[in-house]
Amino acid sequence: MNIPQSSFPRIIIIGGGFGGIALAKKLSKKEVQVVLLDRHNYHTFQPLLYQVSTGGLEPDSIAYPIRKVLQGYPNFYFRLAEVSKIDTERKSVETNIGSIEYDYLVVAAGSRTNFFGNKAIEKKGMAMKTIPQSLNLRSLILENFEQALLTDDLHERDALMNFVIVGGGPTGVELAGALAEIKRGILPKDYPDLDTRRAQINLVQGSDRILPAMSEIASQKAERFLEGLGVNVWKNIRVMDYDGKRVTTDTKTIFDTATLIWTAGVQAVNIPGLDGKELLCRGNRLKVNRFHQVEGFDEIFAIGDVAQMETEAFPHGHPMMAQPAIQQGRSLGENLVKLLEGKPMKPFVYRDKGSMATVGRNKAVVDLPHVKFQGVFAWFVWMFVHLYFLIGFRNRLVVFINWVYNYVRFDREARLIIRPFKKQYRVSGRRS
Ligand SMILES: Cc1cc2nc3c(=O)[nH]c(=O)nc-3n(C[C@H](O)[C@H](O)[C@H](O)COP(=O)(O)OP(=O)(O)OC[C@H]3O[C@@H](n4cnc5c(N)ncnc54)[C@H](O)[C@@H]3O)c2cc1C
Repeated sequence: MNIPQSSFPRIIIIGGGFGGIALAKKLSKKEVQVVLLDRHNYHTFQPLLYQVSTGGLEPDSIAYPIRKVLQGYPNFYFRLAEVSKIDTERKSVETNIGSIEYDYLVVAAGSRTNFFGNKAIEKKGMAMKTIPQSLNLRSLILENFEQALLTDDLHERDALMNFVIVGGGPTGVELAGALAEIKRGILPKDYPDLDTRRAQINLVQGSDRILPAMSEIASQKAERFLEGLGVNVWKNIRVMDYDGKRVTTDTKTIFDTATLIWTAGVQAVNIPGLDGKELLCRGNRLKVNRFHQVEGFDEIFAIGDVAQMETEAFPHGHPMMAQPAIQQGRSLGENLVKLLEGKPMKPFVYRDKGSMATVGRNKAVVDLPHVKFQGVFAWFVWMFVHLYFLIGFRNRLVVFINWVYNYVRFDREARLIIRPFKKQYRVSGRRS
């Protein structure tokens, strides 16, 4: 990997996401050699992926070069590399560009979509966890309307304009709201020769309320907002199968659709060599102690989505969200310095700053630790928080300008099929 030997201990961080970047920043001026490995050369701001999928933002404005985040830090090395194995005996990691030894290893590899073993849905459905996946979804949505124009088969046309989003968490809710706004504000103008009133946006949730991790009032309000936008909210329904044309559920409800979007769960990314059954908990997360050490190892740590730290307040681990990852990254940075100085490490305590979701223009729900509110003010708070946590001044400015423009013009101009997504939908098997 062409990384020089140094007299400083080498800390390898796998993953330049929220946790990995927060940790690397904490270590930036310390007497350690930091090697950050990521399979992408950019950090992804996942909370705004749905806006890329729906043409509200360009992908570049929610991605940031990892090298730039840590520019100018001495003893810092980034390598664009996919880690394929961890050898805990030899204390090394193997990647597609070679192997490298560590003194300390931090796994911050995040999570991936969990299809709960349903191969059919994994193959035929759409996930939205990365920028390439969001671009695929953007292309597919737009291609569907182009294709709907070309068919005189009403059933086929309806299926092309029928969207099924599985999972009523923040991602599903935000995506459903954005699609509903496109249906209202953009489709009638873009496709005057298509009856876009027939387009359906279905949000399917397995439990009895959407946004189950938020307060009851937030769930109710979000549902009312969605219904006001024309979204069909289906609760207590579990999606069972999808053959690319028809979604079946555990009830009699079926959906004929060309697009199933799966936002119903994530599971930790596991790396061979550190994926033994004894190390993993629910969601394949690595069990860590209060100092982020993976059970059974003094020199291997895990933070963010990949880590499960069970505490009294969070017996099933912290939520798989950006804040826990950032706070854990910072805490581990401080603890690693303490460890190297021979001082006792400090147990991690998560400060819950609340959660929020937006449903669309002027509509959001916010649960803070001591106050809950919904509506226009919540929407402003949502925007402010997302702008604040975006990495990079240019990204903040571009996103802000885009939001103002979209608000004033009722528009989403990034509705471009730049990289077509290859999926042909035919009910009848005949080409129009
Ligand atoms: C659509 C969506 C919306 C979300 N919305 C919100 C929200 O509104 N609020 C919120 O708090 N959270 C939200 N989240 C969750 C939040 O993004 C995650 O909890 C957070 O990113 C976790 O941070 P992390 O550092 O653990 O992992 P990540 O940020 O996912 O970073 C992991 C990094 O590891 C890299 N990596 C993985 N495997 C390897 C490998 N083998 N080799 C090399 N590199 C590897 C990846 O490329 C990635 O850069 C959302 C997530 C998604 C998908």
